[in-house]
Amino acid sequence: MNDRRLAPDGHFILCWIQQALRARDNPAIDAAIRLGNAHGLPVLVYHGVRENYPYASDRLHHFILGSSRDLAIGCRERGLACVQYLDRADHREKGLVYRLAAEAVAVVAEDQPVFVARWQAKQVAARIAVPVYAVDAACLVPPAVVGEGIGGRSSFLRRHEPERLVWQEARDELAEVAPFDGPLPFVPDMLDDINIGVFVAGLDIDHSLPASTAFPAGRPAAEARLQRLMQDVLPGYATTRNDATRRDGASGLSPYLHFGVLGPREVMRAVNRSKASARDKAKFADELLGWREWFHYQARALAAPERYDRVAGWARASLAEHAGDPRPDLESLGAMLRGETRDESWNACQRQFLRFGWMHNNLRMYWAKRIITMTPDPETAWATACYLNDRLSLDGRDAATYGNIAAMFGGGQGDRDRPIYGRVTSRGDWSTRSRDGGSEWLAKAAAHTVPDVTIPAGLPRKPYLAG
Ligand SMILES: Cc1cc2nc3c(=O)[nH]c(=O)nc-3n(C[C@H](O)[C@H](O)[C@H](O)COP(=O)(O)OP(=O)(O)OC[C@H]3O[C@@H](n4cnc5c(N)ncnc54)[C@H](O)[C@@H]3O)c2cc1C
Repeated sequence: MNDRRLAPDGHFILCWIQQALRARDNPAIDAAIRLGNAHGLPVLVYHGVRENYPYASDRLHHFILGSSRDLAIGCRERGLACVQYLDRADHREKGLVYRLAAEAVAVVAEDQPVFVARWQAKQVAARIAVPVYAVDAACLVPPAVVGEGIGGRSSFLRRHEPERLVWQEARDELAEVAPFDGPLPFVPDMLDDINIGVFVAGLDIDHSLPASTAFPAGRPAAEARLQRLMQDVLPGYATTRNDATRRDGASGLSPYLHFGVLGPREVMRAVNRSKASARDKAKFADELLGWREWFHYQARALAAPERYDRVAGWARASLAEHAGDPRPDLESLGAMLRGETRDESWNACQRQFLRFGWMHNNLRMYWAKRIITMTPDPETAWATACYLNDRLSLDGRDAATYGNIAAMFGGGQGDRDRPIYGRVTSRGDWSTRSRDGGSEWLAKAAAHTVPDVTIPAGLPRKPYLAG
C-alpha cells in the first residue's frame, strides 16, 4: 500500500487485524507469518476496538469483543502473540497502530473494501515509515488476482471459478520464530479477564440495540453454525433456501463470515466433504463464492461502494423521473426502524433485523424494494436501506450489503414504466405469503416483541469516513 522499505531495526511483523477475527485459515496472519519466517522475526497480532465507530452498539460490540477474545486464544495456540486494546473513556490511547508500527519491520493489514477498514489502512499506509501490505482475508479467491475491469458477474465467474481449486488448497503457515514477548508501547487489554457484558454496559454506545441471542459471538458459535449447515441445511439447500418460514433453510453464517470468525475456505472445505447432493453444494457455492465474492470484487473497484451513485445509471435516471410521483405508502423513519409500518410483511422482515441482527435473504429482497415506496425520494430510500441494514444487522457494513441493495435498486430492467419504480422491478410478498402457513408466519413475525431502539433525528448520509 506504500513504497517504504522494511525497517532494519524493527522487532516484529505487525499483523493488524481489522475485521477477520479468526486465528486460523486467516490469509492476513499467514502472510505475516511468512514474512516473519523469511526475516527471522516474530509476528505480533493486534486488534483494537474503538468506542466511536459508526453504529457502535451493544449488539456489534458484544459480537466483536467475544470474537476477538477467541482470536487471541487461537493465536496463542498457534504460537503467536496477540494483543488487544479496548477504547473507553478512562483508558483512551491514541494512534496505537502508528505506535506499534514504529517498532515493526512491516505491517500486514486487511484488503477490506468497505466501512472504516479501507480508510484506516490507507491513512496508516500513507503516514508510517514501514511497508504496509494489504491482504484479503474475506474471500476464498482474493479479488486482486481475478484481474481488473470486469463489468459483469458472468465474466467474473469465468475468471473466478478456475481459481477456486488453487486457493482451496492453501494451508496455514507454521510460525518458526518464538512468540514476541518484548515491551509494548501500551498496556494491552486481556479479553479473557474481562466480563464483556459489564464492560460493554459502561461504554458510550447505542445500548438500545441489545446483543443477539440468536447469533452469539465467537468460534464455538460459528462452529456450531457450520455443523448445522452440514447436518440440517445443506441437504436440500437448493430447494429450501428461498423459504423464509423454514428454520433450517439457510445457514445463518453471514454474521460469522462478515466478522471473519469463519472464512470461506474452511466453510467450502466442509461443504465439499459433505454427502449432500452436487446440486445443493453447487447452489451453496454460488451464494458463498459466486455472489459474495462478486460483491467484494465490485466494492474493491469502487471508490465509495456505499454511495447511491453505484446504482446502475438507467435505474437512477428512471427512479429520478418518478421522484415526484404521489407516494401513498410513505412511512416515518421511526415507524420503519421499529417495524411499525402499515405493511405487515415489511414489519415481519424488519423485525428479524431487530430481534436477531439478521434477515433471511428472501425477505431482504422484498424489504429493500418496498423501501423505495416508503420514502420520499430514491436517495432517501438508498440511505434508509443502508442505515437500517448497517445499524441493525450483524452482517451489515459489508461489500454484500451495498452490492445487494444496489441490485434491488437497479439489478434487472422491467418491461414497463410504472409509478414510483419507473423501469426498476418491484417485488411482492408472494414468495412467503403463498407458502403453506405463510400468511400466519408473516403475521406472527410482524407481531414479535422487539427492542425499543432509539430513533435518530435524521439519516446519516455519509457515515463512513471513506465516502
Ligand atoms: C437487500 C439485501 C441486503 C443484503 N445485505 C447483506 C448484508 O448486509 N450482509 C451480507 O452478508 N449479506 C447481505 N445480503 C445477502 C444475503 O441476504 C445474506 O448474505 C444472507 O441472507 C445471509 O444468510 P445466510 O448466511 O443464512 O445465507 P445462506 O443462504 O446460508 O448463504 C451462505 C452464505 O453465502 C453468502 N450469500 C448468500 N446470499 C448472498 C447474496 N445475495 N449476496 C452475497 N452473499 C450472499 C453469505 O455470506 C451467506 O452467509 C443482502 C441481500 C439483500 C437482498
